[in-house]
Amino acid sequence: MYRLDTIIKLAEDLKLVKLVFSRYYNPMDSNSLYNHLERLSELLRTDLRKSGIEHGLQPVQLEVLHYLSVCNRYSDTPLAVSEYLGQTKGTVSQTIKVLEQKGLLLRRTDAEDKRVSHLALTPRGSKLLDRLVPPPMLTNASDKLPEKSRIQINQALQQLVLALLQSNGMKSFGVCRTCRYNGRSKDGGYYCNLIKQALTVDDVERLCREHETAA
Ligand code: SF4
Repeated sequence: MYRLDTIIKLAEDLKLVKLVFSRYYNPMDSNSLYNHLERLSELLRTDLRKSGIEHGLQPVQLEVLHYLSVCNRYSDTPLAVSEYLGQTKGTVSQTIKVLEQKGLLLRRTDAEDKRVSHLALTPRGSKLLDRLVPPPMLTNASDKLPEKSRIQINQALQQLVLALLQSNGMKSFGVCRTCRYNGRSKDGGYYCNLIKQALTVDDVERLCREHETAA
């Protein structure tokens, strides 16, 4: 599934999008692409804002909750959140504080490094996120598309996000199966050759800040 907050971010940065896509498409395609992305992001953000307001939440706060619901255990730190969302550490720290106060997020200190903290959604946070993300507007529209179109759109968006991230030297935040460190342990289980640890079936489906696309 493509990442909603990444798509919203794509369209918010007009200069960046135009710069990147002018290298891959002719100017007409780039303009058309930008127009679609901008329209899409506005519609989604408006819908997200509307649903968030009912619960006293800003879109960025929902984006933090969403990221933490799909990242792996090596990527659930405030630093990873700020890298993923492209926000400053200060802004992310404020957002996290608000979410903790609302009882939607929990923070725990790393067992080996007391300077590092890990973040997780509370059951209340998970329940709320399930109701609000993806926005019903998107789900309704997607349900009306033929399955083939949904798959094509999904693949095209994945390609687009990857091209943008790679072209700008940004972290890919992918999953294990597309990572150069993806390996197998002697007993055939999943294994990360970077972190040197066994991975669970759940781990390998989650977004990782250490992900590097396999050649
Ligand atoms: S294999 Fe790659 S994506 Fe998976 S945990 Fe290791 S570094 Fe992260």
